[in-house]
Amino acid sequence: MDVSNEPVDLEVKREEGVTIRFADGHVARIGLMELRQGCPCATCRALRERGEDGWPRPGAPEPLRITDAQFHGAYALQITWNDGHRTGLYPFEALRRWSVSGPPR
Ligand SMILES: [Zn+2]
Repeated sequence: MDVSNEPVDLEVKREEGVTIRFADGHVARIGLMELRQGCPCATCRALRERGEDGWPRPGAPEPLRITDAQFHGAYALQITWNDGHRTGLYPFEALRRWSVSGPPR
């Protein structure tokens, strides 16, 4: 693993988003909406491929919030959302890329 992609600090603001500081000093700040709309799980990817948004979904609780976030191994962040969705694993390396060039569309 490239050491520059190693997170040294992680801050989760449940109503705002996540901030990750990497070993080489790069700071990635990603907002809630970007995180949810770019959710890397198979379900949300399939929605995006059909041209639909992963968020908001019909009947979804508003506003969007993070209810829990934890490390998934050493390489990814698992986020649980306030509608119960929690299958998305966000690799730190991908979040770093989003912070530079935007989330997947
Ligand atoms: Zn998802």
